[in-house]
Amino acid sequence: MGNAASMEKFKAGLRGELLQPGSPGYDTARKVYNAMIDRRPALIARCKDVADVIASVRFAGETGMLTAVRGGGHNAGGLGICDDGLVIDLSSMNGVRVDPWAKTIRVEGGCTWGGVDHASHAFGLATPAGILSTTGVGGLTLGGGLGHLTRKCGLTIDNLLAADMVLADGRFVTASAEQNPDLFWAVRGGGGNFGIVTSFLFRGHPVHTVLAGPTLWELEHAPEVLQRYRDFINTAPEEINGFFLFLSVPPGPPFPEPLHNRKMCGIVWCYAGPPDRFEETFRPVRRFPQPAFDMIGPMPYPALQSMFDGLYPPGQQWYWKADFIKELGDEAIRLHVEHGSKLPTPQSTMHLYPVNGAARRVEGNATAWSYRDATWAEVIVGVDPDPSNNERMTRWANAYWNALHPHSAGGAYVNFMMHDEGQERVKATYRGNYERLAKVKAMYDPENFFRVNQNIQPAGKKSSRSAA
Ligand SMILES: Cc1cc2nc3c(=O)[nH]c(=O)nc-3n(C[C@H](O)[C@H](O)[C@H](O)COP(=O)(O)OP(=O)(O)OC[C@H]3O[C@@H](n4cnc5c(N)ncnc54)[C@H](O)[C@@H]3O)c2cc1C
Repeated sequence: MGNAASMEKFKAGLRGELLQPGSPGYDTARKVYNAMIDRRPALIARCKDVADVIASVRFAGETGMLTAVRGGGHNAGGLGICDDGLVIDLSSMNGVRVDPWAKTIRVEGGCTWGGVDHASHAFGLATPAGILSTTGVGGLTLGGGLGHLTRKCGLTIDNLLAADMVLADGRFVTASAEQNPDLFWAVRGGGGNFGIVTSFLFRGHPVHTVLAGPTLWELEHAPEVLQRYRDFINTAPEEINGFFLFLSVPPGPPFPEPLHNRKMCGIVWCYAGPPDRFEETFRPVRRFPQPAFDMIGPMPYPALQSMFDGLYPPGQQWYWKADFIKELGDEAIRLHVEHGSKLPTPQSTMHLYPVNGAARRVEGNATAWSYRDATWAEVIVGVDPDPSNNERMTRWANAYWNALHPHSAGGAYVNFMMHDEGQERVKATYRGNYERLAKVKAMYDPENFFRVNQNIQPAGKKSSRSAA
């Protein structure tokens, strides 16, 4: 860490707090969503504005401190925090400004999706996000962004119009189609590798009330449901999205008591088209096996976005394994049912998120996010409040992933990866885009200052700092 005088000067210049071990609030500020991650930074700068972010980057540059950037703190691999170094914590920078005439949404870099949905819904607008309202806009957007509106409106990055950024040398730039287009290309999927986004500008879509909710089936129907879902979702009208899951039914309302704690399979739907065309769109699903529970109905979009928040509060143990999937053959379905029916803990799950519809209409090299030709992003998730179950749920997730990986497309969605999966996995994820990403990294962050992430190594650097 720098000497005491330079730290005091840094602290005095900040609008936000600078926390260190022993400061009031330090232990709360170092907690991230995944309680399996327990890191102790030397300093946490709780930035209040862009000036604080610039000062923090410059201080870290001068002192050579390892630097992590925290948006929503949701990353399962804990990439928003580090041991010993400086954490640039953006969580107080959470303002949202909607321009209802231009239909755009300006979001500060530390905001969570609940804040965006709350602000934009008042104007009848939404931009594609993930499926929990507590996830950070920063990490989710920079990694791509899959959720209920993927098929209708594309990935979150497909709706990003501009990003204000602080670079590794403390410079402030805007990345957009017109300004620094190479940087704009890279941040749309390349994660936090290129700089700190202090504000995002998104396109808003007229999405207000959606027909949405889960449909659940007994596990004996899982093979047929998966087959029919596979045949339906790839070419269904883009207004409808549905992600498949294995789950243990939560023991409370709205689920009927006989289903409580039962292992089942389901699809969580979101239809964001004209209500009078819903039945016609949904008709093929009515020919699926008879569901045991069907809760699809009209609801405000933010209600869908926060529907699962209560099931997944912060502070649980999380272990993820992920892949992209192009085809879901019958053998893969058999393996899914075999492993999906053995969920090790009540909150553990497996999700298949569609990567088709509007998301597929974008070329694979138009943004850094290369897997436009996947059909799903698969994520196998072990979750539990009790660390003594970690070994069991990790073993289950790895066995599930090992069985299905030969049926996958190769790489994985970066936002569904843990922190220690290695460079080969990162390269497999960016495929043909990796080389261009490495070149952009060399232009904007040649010393790999931003390396607490799914790291892209700067091109042409023989001994660049390796990922943390
Ligand atoms: C319960 C749960 C549900 C999820 N659901 C979805 C989903 O539906 N769809 C989906 O696409 N993903 C989903 N995710 C994955 C999520 O997108 C990633 O975990 C993402 O990294 C979270 O972003 P964050 O800002 O909260 O994370 P953080 O832990 O704060 O940061 C993650 C990474 O992003 C970088 N970063 C964050 N903000 C900025 C910024 N402003 N500028 C530069 N770098 C930044 C950090 O440096 C770090 O490398 C989910 C995760 C969880 C735990």
